[in-house]
Amino acid sequence: MFALPQNVVNFIQAFKKEDFQIYLVGGAVRDILLTKDQEEVGDNWDFATNAKPEEILKLFPKGIYSNKYGTVIIPVETGHAPSPDKQTLFEITPFRKEWEYKDLRHPEKIEWARTIEEDLARRDFTINALAYDGEKIIDPFGGQKHLEQKLIVAVGDPDKRFSEDALRLIRAIRFASELGFLVEDKTRESIQKNAFLITKISWERIRDELFKILASPNPAEGILFLRNTGLLTFILPELDVCFVIPQKSPKRHHIYDVGTHLVMSLKHCSSKDVITRLATVLHDVGKSKTFRRDAKNGLITFYNHEVVGTQMVKKIADRLRLSKKQKDKLVNLVQHHQFTVTELQTDKAVRRFIRNVGKEYLMDMLDLRYADRVGSGAKPTSWRFELFKKRLIEVQKEPFKITDLKVNGNDVMEILNLKPGPKVGKILNSIFNDVEEGRVKNEREILLERLNKIKRRDA
Ligand code: ATP
Ligand code: MG
Repeated sequence: MFALPQNVVNFIQAFKKEDFQIYLVGGAVRDILLTKDQEEVGDNWDFATNAKPEEILKLFPKGIYSNKYGTVIIPVETGHAPSPDKQTLFEITPFRKEWEYKDLRHPEKIEWARTIEEDLARRDFTINALAYDGEKIIDPFGGQKHLEQKLIVAVGDPDKRFSEDALRLIRAIRFASELGFLVEDKTRESIQKNAFLITKISWERIRDELFKILASPNPAEGILFLRNTGLLTFILPELDVCFVIPQKSPKRHHIYDVGTHLVMSLKHCSSKDVITRLATVLHDVGKSKTFRRDAKNGLITFYNHEVVGTQMVKKIADRLRLSKKQKDKLVNLVQHHQFTVTELQTDKAVRRFIRNVGKEYLMDMLDLRYADRVGSGAKPTSWRFELFKKRLIEVQKEPFKITDLKVNGNDVMEILNLKPGPKVGKILNSIFNDVEEGRVKNEREILLERLNKIKRRDA
């Protein structure tokens, strides 16, 4: 019915020849049905079988069996261009009755199921409870219909399924964001009802799902789903409260509350980097704690919100168990997001900005700023912003350090007939300042001439 890559067909055949049942399951089946194009499915192939781990290993001695749920990982050649002998990993798991009930309840001993139907009944959502054996689709819960309707629907009784494994609460939102689907009413109501159960899940697992939401094609919708289901209160309470912080006030350009502004910023963030996206959706969290409204004129202010926000994202980074590098980037982007973009800035100020943000994060910072602008309802670009970007490049061509000057202490001593001493440093410093402020160019001829001028003046 659907053409499968040759290596997948061969793999299935190897089991069928020994009279084992074998099915493609999970994301691969979903993707085949959605795209109907195996090229786009990539190399993410999961299988379910009635063979036991030992029997699988007999067929594929190179397989690695290390987990207590019976999954065997088998290296297989991809068999297609551009590198036909590159290896990919097939995962194959015996039909099972129990899922890994993450953090809520660990089944002591895994029980195998006899049939694929029994196995599918233990899976989370109908669109994930589909199997394909190369000839027919097994679809006991209407997964194909829900794929067409673009709906995430829990398999069986949603309350029961979410209390078995609370990670499914956020997985529902993750699949909705990745696929551009909605969550079906009963499943959604059950997520709302059971949202508090997410507190039983480890932060590492929550972070992994949150990052998949942020990396998806619909990250802004994902955050709104988290908010509307009540999950956000448990995952990012700092962001959740922002939706009740107004910022519309006289003489200000804002049209959204802080939370909506943050989500709109995320929507317009052109970076694909997860940390930049996280920084974008958190950049104004400090506003919830710095909100002030002037009693007389109604003016709203958020003084030092980036300072307060920096402290807040440090805590968030620790909570989500970010790596040191990820935390450093997140904190840096939030801390410096309030930079001014004006043609009146000196080169020195622009350079200081680059030094503060660090060259490494400069492009991400600009992506955040662009998102911030558009997420406030402004038009995508302004001449000021374009000019600023040009200056960032220009200014980096100029020296940052005194040692980058095209003249050095020896030149100073030679031309001015000086012995080593503080005077040499003073003269170099004044030249450095002139170059940094843009009064003279950092070209050797020009700087030598300047030294000669000092000599004539001092003579
Ligand atoms: P992806 O493309 O992100 O890998 P996937 O559907 O393959 O999507 P996985 O997390 O790899 O997602 O899980 C593979 C399959 O295992 C799912 O499609 C689902 O059938 C089942 N599954 C995974 N986690 C759970 C869970 N917590 N509860 C029930 N079933 C699950
Ligand atoms: Mg998968």
